[in-house]
Amino acid sequence: MDDVVIVGGGIIGAATAYFLSKEGRKVKVIERDPTYKKASFPLSLGGFRRQFFQKENILLGKFAREFLNQIPELLKTEKNPKPTASMVPNGYLLMFGPEHAEEQYKALENHKACEAGTKNIKGSELKKVFPYINPEGIETATYTDNRTEGWIDPFMFHGALKGKAMELGAEFIKGEIKNLGELNAKTIISAAGCWTKELLDDIPVVPQKHTVFRVKCPKHIPEMPLTGDLTTGVYWRPEGKEYLAGSPISTFDSKDLEPAWNDFEELVWPALAKRVPIFEELKLTGGWAGFYDCNKLDNNAVVGKHPKYDNVYMASGFTGRGLMQAPGIGRALTELITTGSYQTIDISVFGVERIFNENARPEPYVL
Ligand SMILES: Cc1cc2nc3c(=O)[nH]c(=O)nc-3n(C[C@H](O)[C@H](O)[C@H](O)COP(=O)(O)OP(=O)(O)OC[C@H]3O[C@@H](n4cnc5c(N)ncnc54)[C@H](O)[C@@H]3O)c2cc1C
Repeated sequence: MDDVVIVGGGIIGAATAYFLSKEGRKVKVIERDPTYKKASFPLSLGGFRRQFFQKENILLGKFAREFLNQIPELLKTEKNPKPTASMVPNGYLLMFGPEHAEEQYKALENHKACEAGTKNIKGSELKKVFPYINPEGIETATYTDNRTEGWIDPFMFHGALKGKAMELGAEFIKGEIKNLGELNAKTIISAAGCWTKELLDDIPVVPQKHTVFRVKCPKHIPEMPLTGDLTTGVYWRPEGKEYLAGSPISTFDSKDLEPAWNDFEELVWPALAKRVPIFEELKLTGGWAGFYDCNKLDNNAVVGKHPKYDNVYMASGFTGRGLMQAPGIGRALTELITTGSYQTIDISVFGVERIFNENARPEPYVL
């Protein structure tokens, strides 16, 4: 009998393999596509933030930053003595219209309680800090300017986690699991991302297609934070000498990963140009689409032991934040499996039971 088998070798599988291997567990990770062509993590924007509504998400975001900081010591291996995730700590800026202001003021109380270190300004003051933003229609905004938020290269982060897990004894094996009943292991973990429902059909986590556009603008602002305009749902960040911009329009039941090109002209470009007038001069240079692992109950993670099995745990449903939550979730699952309870960040609120009780706990700040 195997000790631990993880189904899915994406970012959650790799982070969990790393933390469990560090605790001396013998881990096998089964991944059906080691090129990760359709996996969510390489298609993500790489963002990590602490600006959420719910305390658990804020705390997981804070831990991500701590962990990313320690990559050089924690993830170095003989093969990769200088691991990096290429962090760009430009911060986040989230802007809210009057309809979201009250909710945001409540979120700020949670930021404070969690010592998130975020700053809040009125829309009318925005130009003093971000002179390139048009504040029309913005009531309130939050941001960080202390290098605690930003973005990373997801593929490099995954490679570093996987490499260290392997050095600690984890095996990554190519294979597809059709049914968890095929496995004979003391502990089984489903880390199957947006394909979770194929293995656990009572969990409402499904693929939600999102498009990201790559654009070029004659005026470049390299210090721009990852910026989300919650009045339209459009978000963007610099990428080298260009920018990436995400569309808020998503689709379920899409089998292919063809980007929704029409959304650029109809929604994304006008929204960008309204908020950052220099973006009038944008040129579309490319784009891609990827699947969010969307939890249809409440856009929040589902993590923990599955109550209908003796030995099955799961982690999925991150709905646009699985990359940044991977270190916290890998550590939390390891604590739960090795000690029977969470020892650092208590994420019991994300437990699987809430799905069956339909106890929705929505996280409003999905980008
Ligand atoms: C456009 C876009 C932008 C995003 N931006 C961000 C962001 O800025 N910040 C952030 O934190 N997150 C972001 N995300 C979300 C993030 O990418 C996901 O939440 C995260 O990758 C989920 O990790 P995972 O390991 O659960 O899933 P995945 O990365 O999809 O990995 C799951 C793996 O499981 C394998 N698998 C599935 N079923 C089986 C099976 N039956 N047998 C064997 N293998 C199997 C798959 O092949 C896959 O490799 C974004 C996602 C998209 C699409």
